[in-house]
Amino acid sequence: MLARKTDRVQVYIRTKPTCQFADDLLELDTSTNTIKVHLPPHPTRGHIDNQQLDFSFTVDGLLHNVSQEEVFESCAEDLVSRALDGYSGTVLAFGQTGAGKTYSISGPGQSYRHRGILPRLIHNLYQEIDERYEQDVSIKASYLEIYNESLYDLLGGLNDSVSDKLVVTEECGVVGVKGLSVRQSRNEEEALNFLFEGETNRCIGEHMLNRVSSRSHCIFTLYIESRSRTHSTSRYFQSKLNIVDLAGSERLKKTGSGGNVQKEALYINKSLTFLEQVVVALADTKRDHVPYRQSKLTHFLKDSIGGSCQTILIANIWTEEEHIDETLSTLRFSQRMMCVRSTPQQAIQ
Ligand code: ADP
Repeated sequence: MLARKTDRVQVYIRTKPTCQFADDLLELDTSTNTIKVHLPPHPTRGHIDNQQLDFSFTVDGLLHNVSQEEVFESCAEDLVSRALDGYSGTVLAFGQTGAGKTYSISGPGQSYRHRGILPRLIHNLYQEIDERYEQDVSIKASYLEIYNESLYDLLGGLNDSVSDKLVVTEECGVVGVKGLSVRQSRNEEEALNFLFEGETNRCIGEHMLNRVSSRSHCIFTLYIESRSRTHSTSRYFQSKLNIVDLAGSERLKKTGSGGNVQKEALYINKSLTFLEQVVVALADTKRDHVPYRQSKLTHFLKDSIGGSCQTILIANIWTEEEHIDETLSTLRFSQRMMCVRSTPQQAIQ
């Protein structure tokens, strides 16, 4: 059972299929969208009096044993019409490495049937544009990677893509990146080609710069501009759709030690901590300062979280016993995200 959309951040938990489901530790109730965690006593978990610890989390949707199509329909389908009405949207995939973030966002490589949220969103976007005779819509796309607090342009050609001369800018509340390629995309095929081009550049950059894709944040953005074709009204809208595949959220001890790996893990931990701090500040109605500028990720997402933007968090989890600590930490983060209220929806005109 999935909750009706509200004006706050929508939070969905997606489980990765497994034949080793830890049913003594995890209890899922998809009718109430509740997930319970029962932690047995463990020396490193700080248990008091050797007692079992129980946690319960209720979210907007618990996506367990569901298809890619159902994930799209539950989480992201609504964003298309809203974007064509002038309302921006952001989908964030969060969770430890291997839990299914890229699978949920892009899908497993070549399989059309199992394609992820992003290709489905692109398809629906162009389909709806074709049906809206009264609107003249222009679409542009960019693909940004954030790795160790440096920005990379995944549509900038090979040489440019490895430069880090990009700067996050802000004008009248609208965030952008100076120097980032923003490419006109006239149809579904062109948009999918940009996606493919960006993913290829990401892989090449991975080898050339010796970096691992699961250690960076990737943001595919669709920029929508719409003008009314009718003479009676001359409405003009701008909106954005950000689809964000976040870096793996696992803690340092699991990522190995020393050199680059440790540096990457520190950057990721920091940027996710800043993301969390922004979320906490947004949830606190008495706070008037939200520390967006602490990291490139939160600065770039400034107009996509808690503002006039519909934000969707998909938290991907493993359900095996060995991952229970990371799963609990993902669930806790998700719960905090649910507290974030969006301001009343306002189209940018
Ligand atoms: P992440 O992006 O979180 O590091 P991936 O999306 O790359 O993780 O998933 C890791 C592996 O698990 C991939 O081989 C992917 O195809 C598979 N996988 C993840 N989620 C699912 C799912 N819901 N159904 C089938 N396979 C999945």
